[in-house]
Order: sequence, then C-alpha cells, then structure tokens
Amino acid sequence: MEIKRIFVIFAFLLLPSVQVFAQAPEVIKPKEVTILLRHQSYPAYTRIVIEGDDETLKESKVLRMDSGLQFLIEFKKKPSLIKPETLPVNDGLVKSIESAEKGDKAVLNIILEKVPHDYKSFFLKDPPRRVIDIYKVPVATSVPRTVIVIDPGHGGTDIGAKGLSGLQEKVLALDMALRLKTLLQKNPEIKVVLTRISDVALPLRERAFIGNSNKADLFISLHGNSSFGKSSKDFIVYVLPPHEPKTEENRNPYLWDIQHVRSIKESKRLAESLKETLEKGLGEGIMIKEAPILGLMGIEAPSVLLELPMVPEEGKKLQKENYKNNIASNILEGIINFIKKRPETGRPEGETTRQ
Ligand SMILES: [Zn+2]
Repeated sequence: MEIKRIFVIFAFLLLPSVQVFAQAPEVIKPKEVTILLRHQSYPAYTRIVIEGDDETLKESKVLRMDSGLQFLIEFKKKPSLIKPETLPVNDGLVKSIESAEKGDKAVLNIILEKVPHDYKSFFLKDPPRRVIDIYKVPVATSVPRTVIVIDPGHGGTDIGAKGLSGLQEKVLALDMALRLKTLLQKNPEIKVVLTRISDVALPLRERAFIGNSNKADLFISLHGNSSFGKSSKDFIVYVLPPHEPKTEENRNPYLWDIQHVRSIKESKRLAESLKETLEKGLGEGIMIKEAPILGLMGIEAPSVLLELPMVPEEGKKLQKENYKNNIASNILEGIINFIKKRPETGRPEGETTRQ
C-alpha cells in the first residue's frame, strides 16, 4: 500500500514546475484521488460501481478485451484504491475485480468467469460514479416493446350517438376497447393502456395526454356512428389530413406540427392495415377518411379513430358477442400487421452503424 501511495503523490507533483517543487515542496498539497468499489449481483446481471471524483471517473475508459473474459477500466490519473486490491466477486459471472498499474495509468481489471451477453457503462452524479452493468442473459425480454393506447370515445354524461336499438356509443366504445385489450394483452411484448376503464367523461386533451405520456406507439380511438346517410352502414377509419385545416375552429398550429411531422404517414399506414384485416374478416367495405378530427390532434403516435356503424341493422349485430369478438380480433390483426412492418429506427435501410 505504501508504494502505491508514493506513486500517487509523485504523479501529481510532476504537474507544477520544478522551481516550485524545489523552493517550497510543503505548500503543494497533492490531491489524492480515491476511488471506492462496490458490486451487486442480480439474477440477470452484475453491477459494478466505481465512486470517485467527477473528473477521474468521466475520463475513465471501459474497454472490453479481446478474450471477452475481461474488462479493463483505465484512469488517466492514478487513483489510490481504498480496498481491497483484489476484490473477489465469484457470482458465476464476475470472478474478481483487480487494481493494477499500466504504464502511467491506473487500471481496474474485471475478470469474468464466462463471456457475458452484453454490458452497459454509464456515468452518474451525486455522488459521481461510473456504473458498469454486465449482463449474463438478455434482460429486455420482459420489457414491453410496444405501447398501445386505446381510447374508448365519450363517457359519463357524454353518451355520444344513440342507435335505434338503444345502444349508446359510449357503452359500445368501452365494450370494444375492453375486448381488444384482452386480446392484445396475450402478447407479452405489448403493453395496453386505456384512456378510460369506466363510464366517466374525459376531455380530449386528457386523452391525448394519456397517449403521449405513456409514449404510445399507436393510438386508436373507438367510436360508433348512428348518423343516417350514405355511409352510415360503413366502418370508417379516420385519419388527420396531411395539411393543416383551414377553419379557425380546428386550427392549432403547434399540435398540428407535432402530428404532421412525426406520424401522419404512419397513421395512414395504420388505417390501411385496419381496413385490410376488417374487410377480410367482416367481408364488408371499410372507408378511410381524412378529416380534422379534434380527438386525434396533439397525439404524437400514429393514430386513427375507428367508427363502428350503429344503424339499426348493424346495431343489432353489435349486440351479438361473436360479432363483437370478430371485430376485436380483426382490429388486433390489423395492429399486429402494422407493428410488424413498422420502421425500426430513423436510419435509412442498408446504412450500417458507425462507431
Ligand atoms: Zn363518437
């Protein structure tokens, strides 16, 4: 230990000029850099934490050695390791952590018992520390990769449309949302969030907030249509148009920008995907319409509003469990197809990662 201490002081005394050293060596208070080591073993990974001063740790480098069985952490300044110089770990992945000197640098060697799956190294503050997580197995498998937000329209005092059969739009919307949720949740890679799970009124901005704060990958608002007219028997998938609406009422340039830039193309693709599976499953025509739907504005994820026909004939069908389950599973299929073809990153195809 004593030799190491001399080395540390020596390293710092080299920095001032020789003259200062010769005249008044006692006024130079060599700063001793100290690092503290700790480790914790988890089922999937081992965490090693090095605490020390900000500069020393920020400038430290973590190198994975060729053998795959060793990590080397280099420090520009030579820290004095408080304890111990060989820290045994023996958790089945990490054998030990050893301190050593390498030329004018100090190093820590993390000696492994087997080749790890992966590792992560990052710097944290308060106190300054470098954290190295070494993974035995992939840990991402249990983490949901896709967040789907389903928004049952209306609710509470806002009953929405009312079919002649007495069916209320708010009831239909929640019923279908819950069916869809049950189906989606069978896939462990999907996390489902509903904007409402009971008969409550919910402002549109609240619905958008739920979608955005959950970092939704896609957002589906479910509604019913009981208007009489040419398209009243149709299923309609609404998406926002690619251009900002002209009417003052529907203008909100900020929200429009977010929607436009991030997801308008993907919203269209989601609509096409739902149209395809619903048409195939129900044997009926599905319309895609572009409209400045307020309920879709401000949602950052690809988003659509699906309207189910509630006119008498269709309304009666909607009272049958089988029919509703069919619709839900066709929507599910449309969502899954959409996710599968989703671009992974913003990187153009064929471009490789540069180091
Ligand atoms: Zn509605």
